[in-house]
Amino acid sequence: MSKKLKRRIKRVGAGAAVYLAAVLSSRFAPYWEFGSWNISASLGVFLAAYVIIGGDVVKKAVKNIGQGQIFDENFLMTIATAGAFFVGEYAEAVAVMLFYQVGECFQSYAVNRSRKSIADLMDIRPDYANVIRDGTAVEVGPEEVEIGETILVKPGERIPLDGKVVKGTSSLDTMALTGESLPRDVAEGEDVISGCVNLSGVLEVQVSKGFGESTVAKILDLVENAGSKKSEAEHFITKFARYYTPVVVGLAALLALVPPLVTGGGWADWIYRALSFLVISCPCALVISIPLSFFGGLGGASRAGILIKGSNYLEALADAEMIVMDKTGTLTKGVFGVRKIVPAEGSTEEEVLETAAYAESFSNHPISKSLVRAYGKEIDDSRIKDVEETAGHGICAVLDGQRVLAGNDKLMKSRNVEGKSPEEAGTIVHVAKEQKYLGYIVIADEIKEDAKTAVDGFKAAGMKNIVMLTGDRKKTADSIAGELGITEVYAELLPGDKVEQVEKLLASKSEKGKLVFVGDGINDAPVLARADIGVAMGGLGSDAAIEAADVVIMTDEPSKIAKAMQISQKTLGIVKQNIVFAIGVKVLVLLLAALGAASMWAAVFADVGVAVIAILNAMRAMK
Ligand code: ADP
Ligand code: MG
Repeated sequence: MSKKLKRRIKRVGAGAAVYLAAVLSSRFAPYWEFGSWNISASLGVFLAAYVIIGGDVVKKAVKNIGQGQIFDENFLMTIATAGAFFVGEYAEAVAVMLFYQVGECFQSYAVNRSRKSIADLMDIRPDYANVIRDGTAVEVGPEEVEIGETILVKPGERIPLDGKVVKGTSSLDTMALTGESLPRDVAEGEDVISGCVNLSGVLEVQVSKGFGESTVAKILDLVENAGSKKSEAEHFITKFARYYTPVVVGLAALLALVPPLVTGGGWADWIYRALSFLVISCPCALVISIPLSFFGGLGGASRAGILIKGSNYLEALADAEMIVMDKTGTLTKGVFGVRKIVPAEGSTEEEVLETAAYAESFSNHPISKSLVRAYGKEIDDSRIKDVEETAGHGICAVLDGQRVLAGNDKLMKSRNVEGKSPEEAGTIVHVAKEQKYLGYIVIADEIKEDAKTAVDGFKAAGMKNIVMLTGDRKKTADSIAGELGITEVYAELLPGDKVEQVEKLLASKSEKGKLVFVGDGINDAPVLARADIGVAMGGLGSDAAIEAADVVIMTDEPSKIAKAMQISQKTLGIVKQNIVFAIGVKVLVLLLAALGAASMWAAVFADVGVAVIAILNAMRAMK
């Protein structure tokens, strides 16, 4: 709890004691009659209590009027309570101010607490890096370390920059980044990303990216900017507040003037009713609780390893109607194992694999990485040049001065190489050298463990279409789709075809419904951008995807998308409850107050009580 808040609570507590004394004294104190006015001797004590409790509110009101903010809640409370004094309701005037202050203290406590717990979740910013310079480790700011330098990360420290382990083994806590509670083991030669906590061994890490480009910096940037993309619900509330307060204040003025003028009397009663209106005219319950609900939803999602780039996307996810998924890297692991190597006549398995691995050695495509891994030997960069990758086709390069190809049927056809078209299931990489067909490699990818859970989750969330897109062969696509229970499959698509297919789907969906596309950012960034909501399998450190997408799944688990949809629906449910509850209670109490059936007590409940309840409700979005 902040010091300021503590002081405020103490002051309000002291004021409450004085108020009690005032209430007691009013029972015995004498009073004087001036015409129709009764001035009690306890007025002085009430005034003292009022100043102690609400002095700061009055002061803020005066200050804000100076700055042109007229319908400020401090002003409204001041007018309402001063008015209550004026009509002789001393006890009520002070009590309303007291109740208001108690509510305010609670509000600021609750809001601070939830903000802090979300900030804690995202507390991944590294403070320093131990960089090894001239043989000794020196502590510097992470942004001062250059690419290629080596840093030392001790157990218990946060890895400050992305890089590769050059010495040591350890396990890492990736919880803050991925929500994954199991530690991840790392050894020499493996990549590590900033933001993870080193748990056991000392690591030496060669830095591969500057701090500005590091995973931590990107995630923080993303989270900090999430608040600036507002949801429609938040826009609605801002607009609502702009009209609501002046309208209610206007009604209060009419209520104070018109009935007494018409009936010719009863001023005090009508003024009292009008003052209740002023108390209810603050829209705070909504203004605070709606953004807080979204904030909580975003925080809860990020705790689960789902980064959502704005409230608008969180809101849109609740209207998702179609989910379109890329195959490789999204539903499958993107780690291909070599099943079979089939050399053509005059070639050998060795030659086919070596040629493919060399050709693929510069690419980041999952197929390329898998082939290089399967080859297993060191790649001599000097043997390969003029590498040219065609998305959805494969690679063309020059190896030892000879033109080589590695890719699918389409690539072979486009370069006029005669090859086989094998029947077996799996992804096929054909290899050719100097226009001569060398043979093919059958590789197969594994379906992710939770892919089925994800598809079932989408069905449960009521998705109308569950679609798989892939550049891979129809046969492979169908077998994977069959296993997962996906019925709509489009295969053998080039990246451009994927965009076209998504355009068609966009045209066929309902007006309000949203299309969600999920990809890994490799060959599908344009689709990520075109979809209503682009979800990227962020993996640990795939930058292109993190940038192109609206939602990033840090753990690469597609089931997290179903989870994100749940969080979205829950958050929107809370937002709707709060809107209906807050506006409902206010309108009801306004009516009762106009009829003289609600006291100022009810009014202050409609203001502060409702705000507190709405905030407590909003905090549920975080869980
Ligand atoms: P997906 O739609 O499954 O994510 P891509 O669009 O990335 O797949 O690629 C589609 C197809 O193009 C692959 O199945 C493969 O046949 C071929 N291909 C793409 N890139 C390469 C590459 N680097 N090496 C070999 N084949 C490739
Ligand atoms: Mg892909």
